[in-house]
Amino acid sequence: MNMLWMAGMGGLAANDAAENLSTKAAEALGGSVGGGGNLEVRELRHQVERLALLNQAMWELLCTRLNMSDADIEAKAQEVDMRDGIADGKMTTHAVTCPSCKRVCNSKHHKCIYCGQLFERPVFG
Ligand SMILES: [Zn+2]
Repeated sequence: MNMLWMAGMGGLAANDAAENLSTKAAEALGGSVGGGGNLEVRELRHQVERLALLNQAMWELLCTRLNMSDADIEAKAQEVDMRDGIADGKMTTHAVTCPSCKRVCNSKHHKCIYCGQLFERPVFG
C-alpha cells in the first residue's frame, strides 16, 4: 500500500495503516516491534509514520483548498495504479522495449537510457 493511497482514509486509519506496515516490516526482518527492535526496523517505522503524517497533512490541505473528496483521490489512485497495466494497488515497474533502438529499459524511466528516445507516456507521470 503506498502512502498516497492512505490519504483518503482519515487520520486514525492512516496511522493504523502506518503502524500495521511497520509491524509487518519488523516481522519480515525478524526484529521485535517493541522497544528493543533493531535500528533499521525502528528507522523504517519512523519513516513510514512520518510519511503517513505528511501524506495526511497534504491530503487535508488539498481537501480544504481545492474542495476535493476521498472519491477524488480514490479515482486518481486507481488511474495511477493502472499506468503499469496491473490493478494491484501499487506502482510497479516492468520492462519496456524502446521503440527506437529496441533495447529493454525499465518503465520507471521516461526515456530510453541507451538512445534517449522519449517514451510516449512516462509510467510515473
Ligand atoms: Zn532506445
